Amino acid sequence: MSALLQARDLVRCYEGPKSLFGKSPAVRAVDGVNLTLRPGETLGIVGESGSGKSTLGRMLLGIDPPTSGTVAFDGEAMPPLQSPRWRALRAQMQLVYQDPLAALDRRLTIADQIGEPLEIHRLAKGAERSERVRDLMAQVGLRQDQGDRYPHELSGGQRQRVVIARALATSPRLLVCDEPVSALDVSIQAQVVNLLRDLQESHGIAMVFISHDLKVVRNICDHVAVMYLGRIVEEASSDEIFAHPLHPYTRALVSSVPIPGKPLTGRILLKGEPPNPAQRPAGCAFHPRCGSAKPACHVAAPPLEPVALARRAACHLLVSPQDHAA
Ligand code: SF4
Ligand code: MG
Repeated sequence: MSALLQARDLVRCYEGPKSLFGKSPAVRAVDGVNLTLRPGETLGIVGESGSGKSTLGRMLLGIDPPTSGTVAFDGEAMPPLQSPRWRALRAQMQLVYQDPLAALDRRLTIADQIGEPLEIHRLAKGAERSERVRDLMAQVGLRQDQGDRYPHELSGGQRQRVVIARALATSPRLLVCDEPVSALDVSIQAQVVNLLRDLQESHGIAMVFISHDLKVVRNICDHVAVMYLGRIVEEASSDEIFAHPLHPYTRALVSSVPIPGKPLTGRILLKGEPPNPAQRPAGCAFHPRCGSAKPACHVAAPPLEPVALARRAACHLLVSPQDHAA
């Protein structure tokens, strides 16, 4: 099946913080990312805060233009932000943010907000639009009488349902969800994740699911890419990542995810905080926190390479000597 979304060598640099001695070098928030998403697939992007996940998500939608590299949607190079072609493509690519209150207009009713994309993209008006809004509200589990309410009159979980209904209004082929449940109560998170999974399956929408919470990702994703300081350090099917994490960073992240009905054992505690992206450690950027680091890890950055069928990882320990010789 051909790719719906293809990212090649994506780099996003920001100006470094100013210091007494002038400008610091640019910070590479996203640093050489390659990704492929097929229609209907769900890809989890995980990592601690500051790993570049959100920037990458916005780049995949053309909202944050790459410093270098390319994104193609359905084989077409991503058009420039706000160009007529980009606006037309946006109907097929939607974004769900962490904070539903910030994503909604507090002066508009719920029904008007869900129906707005139908108007912007000239997909339906009048009675047809109202009918479509009612249908979308039902799909996300909102009651019809909530259509006349305003965002502040709903709970956080209900507001996120409104954001999801609004994102679905244009029948998108791609949904990028950036921490869509992390602002919600834990008791509500599972409901919203289940809703996203059901909608994704019933509509065949491809989804990029960005989260620092591996429990949530495990529930919803076919594939997982683990990011550390702007780079993907491991990529595999969700089953493989959770059953046999290979990269030391992934192993630590996965070790903190409880398996229902089993005590949490063998937890690997990560040393310290993730380094500041403006001060990327030399060699493997994970080496200051890695329990397996060798002298070579302080010097050379490991490339992301195939380590098994349909698996890639960036770690010197995982590449056999023959691979180096080849
Ligand atoms: Fe650890 Fe070295 Fe592998 Fe980096 S390359 S994850 S420091 S073992
Ligand atoms: Mg983020």
